[in-house]
Amino acid sequence: MSEFRSIRALAIVLRHADWGEADRLVTLYTREQGKLRAVAKGARKINSRKAGHLEPFTHVKLQLARGRSLFIVTQADTVEAFLSLRETLEMTGTASYVVELLDRFVYEDEGPNPSLFRLLAETLKRLADGEEPWLAVRYYEMRLLDFLGFRPQLFECANCGRKIKAEDQFFSFSTGGVICPRCGRGLPNLTSISVSALKYLRHFQRSSYAESKRAQPTSEVQDEVEVLMQGYFTYLLERELNSPGFLRSIRPSSSSPNSK
Ligand SMILES: [Zn+2]
Repeated sequence: MSEFRSIRALAIVLRHADWGEADRLVTLYTREQGKLRAVAKGARKINSRKAGHLEPFTHVKLQLARGRSLFIVTQADTVEAFLSLRETLEMTGTASYVVELLDRFVYEDEGPNPSLFRLLAETLKRLADGEEPWLAVRYYEMRLLDFLGFRPQLFECANCGRKIKAEDQFFSFSTGGVICPRCGRGLPNLTSISVSALKYLRHFQRSSYAESKRAQPTSEVQDEVEVLMQGYFTYLLERELNSPGFLRSIRPSSSSPNSK
């Protein structure tokens, strides 16, 4: 296994926790290595030069040294601080949701996914620049599903394969797609989805962000789409909890934040 002692990486800070007396353990999503954790020595000291660069949501350029079990942050320079994400509770809440969603689906040993890194950085930038949060977040969710391999089937019935017509439908979290009214009547555990909500989901799935911005759903449709996506993510996360990836991530051999 070829390993470099020191690496450079572009990263988004997902979260941090106290570590030892004065250090901080930061969880990062990096362009070069995917998700990883690194210790920032002395980051809780008042005069720390690293601390300000390692707040959650920050886009940062890092130099990392490979320690025995964790990386050590040897240098940190902010690319974009996204300070406006910390201005209101609502902004912070939205940015936290964006970061946490990725954090919960992606594991440390999965390796890099530069598209995912770019999506995360772009989404935080859109929110920081004052783009409409509902739209920025829904677009993020739809692309995230693509990159994670959970792209929902929205154009053909996920049960019989027939082309979906312009009418109210059902949605199945377990098959990950729309179910036509004919199949839906005989199947358990389906959610209903209106023809308008489906129209916007399709629009986000096949459009660029610039094109997505032309969508102007009513607040009822906004709520419906949001609830549906939340339901799908909740279902997927619960299923992930039983997956080998999750078990790997909580295995005792992976260093716990309390061990020094
Ligand atoms: Zn069908």
